[in-house]
Amino acid sequence: MSQENGYHEIPMWAHVAEQDWEDWHWQLRNRITGVDQLKSWFPLTPSEEEAARRTQGRLVMAIPPYWASLMDPHDPQCPIRRQCIPTMEEFDVREHDRLDPCGEDGDMPVPGLVHRYPDRVLFLVTEQCAMYCRHCTRRRLVGTTSRGLMTSANYEATFAYLRAHPEVRDVLISGGDPLMLTESRLEKILAGLRAIPSIEFIRIGSRTPVTMPQRVTPEFCELLKRYKPIWMSVHFCHPKEVTPRLAQAMDMLADSGVPLGSQTVLLRGINDDPAVMKRLMQELLKVRVRPYYIYQCDPAQGISHFRTSVDAGVKILEALRGHTTGYAVPTFVVDGPGGGGKIPIAPNYVVQYEDGVMTLRNYAGETYEYHEPEEVQAPSAPAPIRPLDGLLQPPRVRRRRAS
Ligand SMILES: *Cc1c(COP(=O)(O)O)cnc(C)c1O
Ligand code: SF4
Repeated sequence: MSQENGYHEIPMWAHVAEQDWEDWHWQLRNRITGVDQLKSWFPLTPSEEEAARRTQGRLVMAIPPYWASLMDPHDPQCPIRRQCIPTMEEFDVREHDRLDPCGEDGDMPVPGLVHRYPDRVLFLVTEQCAMYCRHCTRRRLVGTTSRGLMTSANYEATFAYLRAHPEVRDVLISGGDPLMLTESRLEKILAGLRAIPSIEFIRIGSRTPVTMPQRVTPEFCELLKRYKPIWMSVHFCHPKEVTPRLAQAMDMLADSGVPLGSQTVLLRGINDDPAVMKRLMQELLKVRVRPYYIYQCDPAQGISHFRTSVDAGVKILEALRGHTTGYAVPTFVVDGPGGGGKIPIAPNYVVQYEDGVMTLRNYAGETYEYHEPEEVQAPSAPAPIRPLDGLLQPPRVRRRRAS
């Protein structure tokens, strides 16, 4: 608890009682939304200052005190700080950037309900979040109430759609952040979904346990227990986010029988270093979160400065697989721009296939020959095409030592 109780050292909150600090409503009410609050604490860069003034109205700056207390006020490159304070780079729109990079708006049979895959849907229930992440891919919807997609009428229309589509067996509740809703509103959604016999399980996607762990209250955990099975995917980007206070929130969820997975956006200069990502994945296992996805950062407008190469993601997976437990290895995906859905990209471990002999390399770069039985052999195929360095170049292999 030492780290976050360090808030007493921040002048703005020096006199805040523990009880207030631990109240999520206090955290929400006291979010930093103005440049002057930040400037009274530490100097902003000119780019941060101008951007924070300009983003009013669209994906506004809003930083819960808990998250702010993790920031390094002396380092503009601090990964916590870069995720919450805008910079002028957000106004740099590139040729292939899109407002709706994953083509979600085109796959909505009901406003707020994305039905893309055969047996599951994404249900956007709010446009609010505890903190607005500067790398948000859904910035067209989030942090504004102007679209009014997520109304009670739309919830009812969603339940009706799902009753008419029994092939849907799994609902992923997201937004915005579902944890911004009150327990009673959440309960209406969960009860509505549970009343549909074809819905086998429910998932909640959220970032709030990380940006404002105070939201994970005993009442919230009781609610999840009542509507089990509910799984949670929690959005983490950096090992600094895994604090003792976060661990407490994860403990409460895991002890309530909620299986926890993670989603991580690959961000340039924040977590695109294999050592940083490995540390994050290992920290997650310690708090009972199973790494699920690493996302290539989508070409949403104004986040190019956070995007890195796809190859950087492949190299991260290479650095994980075999070097640490398989439980720490998530799937790396690119969301096909315009509506292709999640496309997995993995390092290639097949060096060659010829006459039923597959030449494989292991994590250490040593090669091994695997012989298939004759009756199942495929015609000889050329080595798979590898379009990227590390993916398409012949892999770095070492001859196996004679045993
Ligand atoms: C990510 C996503 C899902 C869930 O996909 P899983 O691979 O099952 O986690 C469902 N619908 C949409 C539109 C999504 O983007
Ligand atoms: S919590 Fe999720 S939806 Fe909200 S701003 Fe962050 S990335 Fe976007």
